[in-house]
Amino acid sequence: MDIIAIIDKLYETNNAEREELLYLVENIKEEEKSYLMRKAKETTEKNYSNKVFMRGLIELTNFCKNDCYYCGIRRSNKNAERYRLNLEDILSCCKTGHELGFRTFVIQGGEDMHYTDDKLVEIVKAIRENYPDCAITLSLGEKPYESYKKYFDAGADRYLLRHETADEEHYRMLHPESMSLANRKECLYNLKKIGYQVGSGFMVGSPYQTKENLVDDLLFLKELNPHMVGLGPFIPHKETDFRDESHGTLEMTLVMIALVRLMLPKALIPATTALGTIDPKGREMGFDAGANVIMPNLSPSEVRKKYLLYDNKVSTGDEAAESLRAITAKIRDAGYEVDMTRGDNIEWKR
Ligand code: SAH
Repeated sequence: MDIIAIIDKLYETNNAEREELLYLVENIKEEEKSYLMRKAKETTEKNYSNKVFMRGLIELTNFCKNDCYYCGIRRSNKNAERYRLNLEDILSCCKTGHELGFRTFVIQGGEDMHYTDDKLVEIVKAIRENYPDCAITLSLGEKPYESYKKYFDAGADRYLLRHETADEEHYRMLHPESMSLANRKECLYNLKKIGYQVGSGFMVGSPYQTKENLVDDLLFLKELNPHMVGLGPFIPHKETDFRDESHGTLEMTLVMIALVRLMLPKALIPATTALGTIDPKGREMGFDAGANVIMPNLSPSEVRKKYLLYDNKVSTGDEAAESLRAITAKIRDAGYEVDMTRGDNIEWKR
């Protein structure tokens, strides 16, 4: 098989056979990688020009009822210092963010039962009323259809829920019995049905992951056809059983970003904090591979050190304004234009 021909096929048809993807992932060489990145970037530019969309991230809570083996805020991490933001904290983050120009807020957290549906509806409504010009994205894990519907009706626009891995057996190796890939997928299809812009994605280089698993992740995303795709390297956390595992590589993460871009040309793809954590230039390289979103942290600086999904997470103690200035400068230096609008997926209509 000819890797350049596979890349050309992906570029032209946004699809490839399983065998072709696997061959590419297993055999791609430096020169072919540069070609892949070039084609991916061209695809981003055709759809979104050279814009990088900004989202303000608010980390709601690091309490979690789940016990995902890889995650630093898993229930059985007894050394995590837990916190919760209340409505007032959240609105204050939004105020700061809005003044800085953010028009998307992403509320992310563990699965914390303290936030009942009523509380979450209250939060979404308050943000919606105060900031009618902003997109509200939630990333709060698995919920029943009715709960997702309530948040949507209260004004939430988007929902992020990575599938993590599309292979049943691999899913089992990363999650306890109480969780299932089937439920995760059902949640994703429910979110789409309700009308959210949906984001999914996976970790690159998570323990026991094979190249076949990665190809399955790509094929699952192609089938789901989400509006957004978040993917970043797995990074071990010292308070988990995966503490001695190695992190996902920069190279493989970039290849995956580029392949997702070619398969889902109109997706919004963040250059993740995890990517910026394994390499100081990781996020810029992510943009060169087809990413076009960045999510600066708007959480209060006291809690940022506590929302630790993995070790060494890059986080400045800076005020939001200061870190926005720094990030903006980096994006411009890398040759991209900072876009502070809502930045909806170009195919989406409410
Ligand atoms: N509870 C929410 C939000 C999870 S945190 C949910 O279930 O969707 C957001 C993402 O961080 C997760 O989807 C996971 O892919 C990623 N993550 C968790 N632990 C990680 C680790 N050790 N390394 C890299 N990414 C990790």
